[in-house]
Amino acid sequence: MKNKGILIVVSGFSGAGKGTLMTRLIEKYDTYALSVSMTTREARDGEIDGINYFFLEKEEFEEKIKENALVEYANYCGNYYGTPREYVEQQLQLGKDVILEIEIQGALKIKQNFPNALLLFVMPPDVAELRKRLVGRGTETLDVIEKRLMRAKEESAGIEEYDYIVINDDLEQCVDEVNEIVRAAHNTPARNVEFIEKTKKDLERLSEGE
Ligand code: 5GP
Repeated sequence: MKNKGILIVVSGFSGAGKGTLMTRLIEKYDTYALSVSMTTREARDGEIDGINYFFLEKEEFEEKIKENALVEYANYCGNYYGTPREYVEQQLQLGKDVILEIEIQGALKIKQNFPNALLLFVMPPDVAELRKRLVGRGTETLDVIEKRLMRAKEESAGIEEYDYIVINDDLEQCVDEVNEIVRAAHNTPARNVEFIEKTKKDLERLSEGE
């Protein structure tokens, strides 16, 4: 029996490389769907509306909140970020494993509302590497980088809430590791309740001599 897709939350410090990791995961395996978030932050050079994010004005975003059109949302470094509900529900129904690349407040809300969600936290091999990646990316000012490093410190307090950590050292290895975790997660009893119940009922019938 094919079970429905799993809602996968991927968090990690800014600069931990989760974007690259998810892009490669989706390229390599066709069982995933990546949710595109809405945000009120400015688009970075090269970012495309509808591909990287849906870029909204603050008022538009607040309208989405009111309409209950988001599965979760959070404020991160002064901007709103949120996950559109419709795409997520549709893809899960189709059996896709849906990836939400979101920060920790949103992740914890998902954990509360979707107990079968799988929470992964991507970590850099070490903190010096994290800073190097943030500076090397060249998309943020030093001020923003410092803000994001401060935020990383806050976020590190919540890592234990996640199901798995993934250390992003070698990209290909890390992609395969994430895929293995997800494949294994499909086989937990909690994610196969219907199948288990059906087997139990069939066994009961059999033992009653039907
Ligand atoms: P960035 O500005 O670097 O694209 O994203 C900043 C942070 O917001 C990242 O940690 C990213 O994972 C998170 N984020 C992106 N989309 C969402 C979302 O829809 N909801 C939440 N809660 N966080 C998000």
